[in-house]
Amino acid sequence: MSTEATTTARSTELYRRACELIPAGVSSPVRAFKAVGGTPRFVARGEGARIIDEDGASYLDYCMSFGPLILGHAHPEVVDAVTGAAKEGLTFGAPSRREIALAERMVAAYPALERVRFVSSGTEAVMSAVRLARGFTGRDLVVKFDGCYHGHADHLLVAAGSGLLTFASPSSAGVPKAFAEKTLVLPLDDEEALETVFRERGGEIAAVVIEPVPANAGLLVQRDEFLERVREVTAQYGALLIFDEVITGFRLGMAGAAGDFGITPDLATFGKIIGGGMPVGAFGGRKDVMERIAPLGDVYQAGTLSGNPVAMAAGETTLRILERDRIHEKIELRGERLEAGLRRALSTSRVPGCVVRKASLFWILLQAGPPPRRVDSIRKEAAIRFAPLHAALLGRGIYLAPSAYEVGFLSAAHTDEDVDASVASFEEALRHVEGGGEEIE
Ligand SMILES: *Cc1c(COP(=O)(O)O)cnc(C)c1O
Repeated sequence: MSTEATTTARSTELYRRACELIPAGVSSPVRAFKAVGGTPRFVARGEGARIIDEDGASYLDYCMSFGPLILGHAHPEVVDAVTGAAKEGLTFGAPSRREIALAERMVAAYPALERVRFVSSGTEAVMSAVRLARGFTGRDLVVKFDGCYHGHADHLLVAAGSGLLTFASPSSAGVPKAFAEKTLVLPLDDEEALETVFRERGGEIAAVVIEPVPANAGLLVQRDEFLERVREVTAQYGALLIFDEVITGFRLGMAGAAGDFGITPDLATFGKIIGGGMPVGAFGGRKDVMERIAPLGDVYQAGTLSGNPVAMAAGETTLRILERDRIHEKIELRGERLEAGLRRALSTSRVPGCVVRKASLFWILLQAGPPPRRVDSIRKEAAIRFAPLHAALLGRGIYLAPSAYEVGFLSAAHTDEDVDASVASFEEALRHVEGGGEEIE
């Protein structure tokens, strides 16, 4: 790869201007490169598997906007659908056929999705699903797992308390303690903790919310038995199981993680891919539960731009192409190739590490030992080693999300040649990580 920019002058200048207007110059924190150092690249445009920054440098993109772009940047059919819809009006505040088109595809593909409602982000989807679960069960408590991210709604922006049965504490300033105290945070991969909490508080728990394949603190693939136990215990105590499939929905196949594990949740939340790059979220599931939403029921939920026609068109087109072109099967093969290549490169370097992959999601973890299932098994050294790796890859025209805790995303636009070139760059970049070989500088 020799597509690297010789300069970051324009990005640096734009970053300086942005910082005078927008906190840290970014509209979402991880984009600021704080964890890896260096200048955030200001992206001028995207094209297939690549982004081109304001200095004219082209990067093979493995961040893919953190998930929505499973077809790659500016897919011609998606762009056509968006422009076609836009010409007919940007928003109506009245129902349109485009919501039905996307809902039909989702309901047909995802297990036991009987009703679905659209919102504008993943955060909103989870927030609404949790409120619905509380309204439906008449209970207040919610269980989440340490290492799962569900957006930035107050009651889920919390960290574990000091013991299993102690309530969570806010993980952000501005979250009232009283909100956090409605949430219990459990470790992943631990049936005993789950059972203990339900034995003690089961009658007060409205819902368990979980990323079935946790992909927001690295990629913490769970054992089937653990997820099965979560399903059993929630059913036994009359709590709802909410699968947060904002990343995994329509990524691990059309049936998401529910299809992959053969486990049906009561409610599921979606985002990212179902918007095809536009701001969309959705939640849905059991009809009897979903019919508690206003105006049918007493759980209030609304949105001025919900079901936006332009966004619906992007999402519906994306799902149609995924199915029509058997994209998941194709990406799986490319994923195997990437995984094997990265493993090979790691094994010939002296940098400790492992590669975790699930379908088009992958994670490079620079620490010794087996892939972790819990967030507390990720060691600080891994993040320290990641920063020079990130910089060296960027210099070779490979764009990874700027944090050791973010996963990589493959898209239908990445080719075998892209993958091979990335592996070669990775092999070189590892030499810049301590222990990776001759110190270059
Ligand atoms: C991205 C994400 C969210 C939040 O979605 P936004 O659209 O960023 O609000 C929620 N849950 C999971 C699992 C996610 O990956």
